[in-house]
Amino acid sequence: MHRRFKHADIIPLLGNIGSSGRFEVVEIGKSTEERSIFRLQYGHGPIKILLWSQMHGDEPTATMALFDLFNFFNGKDDGFDAYRDDIASKVTLYFIPMLNPDGTERFQRRTAMDVDMNRDARATATVEGALLKAQAMLLKPDFAFNLHNQNNYYNIPGTNMPVTISLLAPAYDYARSINETRGDAMRVIVGINKVLQEFVPKAVARYDDEHTPRGFGDNFQKWGARTILIESGAYVGDTEKMLVRKCNFVALLKAFEEIADQSFKQYSVTDYDTIPFNDEKLHDVLLRNLTIEQHGSQIVVDIAIRQIEKTIGSDYYMEGIVEDIGDLQDFYGYQDLDVSGLKFIPAKKYDNILLIEQLDHNLIQDLLHKGIATVHIKDDEAAGKLHQFPINIVSREGFLSEGLPELGSMANFFIGTDENIKYAIINGYVLDLRVSDCNPNYKNRIY
Ligand SMILES: [Zn+2]
Repeated sequence: MHRRFKHADIIPLLGNIGSSGRFEVVEIGKSTEERSIFRLQYGHGPIKILLWSQMHGDEPTATMALFDLFNFFNGKDDGFDAYRDDIASKVTLYFIPMLNPDGTERFQRRTAMDVDMNRDARATATVEGALLKAQAMLLKPDFAFNLHNQNNYYNIPGTNMPVTISLLAPAYDYARSINETRGDAMRVIVGINKVLQEFVPKAVARYDDEHTPRGFGDNFQKWGARTILIESGAYVGDTEKMLVRKCNFVALLKAFEEIADQSFKQYSVTDYDTIPFNDEKLHDVLLRNLTIEQHGSQIVVDIAIRQIEKTIGSDYYMEGIVEDIGDLQDFYGYQDLDVSGLKFIPAKKYDNILLIEQLDHNLIQDLLHKGIATVHIKDDEAAGKLHQFPINIVSREGFLSEGLPELGSMANFFIGTDENIKYAIINGYVLDLRVSDCNPNYKNRIY
């Protein structure tokens, strides 16, 4: 399974889940583009919990975790039957997975109307936002879980540790007051943080708590549901966010348990305040102390690179751009490289036009060692196709960033000495040319 699954992928799964008899699956409405939106109900207890995922179409991690929960609650004879029965008798769970299926189709944040649904709780101009509000008014949940993804660049303050999960009891007013509703949400979060520390120690943070009058979380809190925001973040090496998905699953199971037996009441709101706030100081690549020669003089700077995912259907390619240049001492990189004593070497383009069949590992290594970052292939149809070669491929003239690093431009250059190239930066990927590269998963496109 990968992150870019679509509405059509979940329909058969929902059919299977409903056929067990333990879940009631109902269609509560349709999106702008007529995709069905479903609500699943498990249990029959007096405490009502409503959860929804993917109101932002490009934030799918919690949707996967909800399906893990559906499978778990449909399980049997695995040692958890007592847990399942206990939950079912004490709480009623209502799940709305993939609230924004049109956005999901495009892997974009906003709805088909280009509205950010999480800024539509007040106006409810979108059919999807109106649906969610109607469910809130109909069900009057005691607890609400608003499930999102945050970007990969949040870190635990003062460390290079990415935030794997961030949590928030959204504020219902500008003063960030704490009434019993919000206080209870904070207590549930203390319990969630406690269990997550066992899986991802020191990688849990609090999301920004500024009041957003248009936001759903803020309004659910105002409407009287103890509301908890869970943001799926990042974990080193977990591109498809499978560990983050597991953290969601664990966090939610723990929350259900502590709500069912009211054990969340044991926690204190002051413990919530000990969870650090998200900082945002991570970059995909950070090159430290790079020497750049310009007009005969030398400067030493740090360079940050961002790898931006560009969606094509259910796949994507990366665009690696120069994100910042200067003193970046207080920032961190997933790839963090001190290149003191080495200098910037502009990229060149290969003079010969090739057939794509001629490209192989040896030729590419040879070209990279010569400072060549781009090859021109003879194929008019190739532009837009994806490839995994660690070199830029163009099918027409006029593409190459070959000058000095420039904000927002593609990161294509080399790093080394006058005698030797040590690193190739190709579309933001860092290749250490002193070791033979063993085929990592480059996600490039032909231009
Ligand atoms: Zn979101």
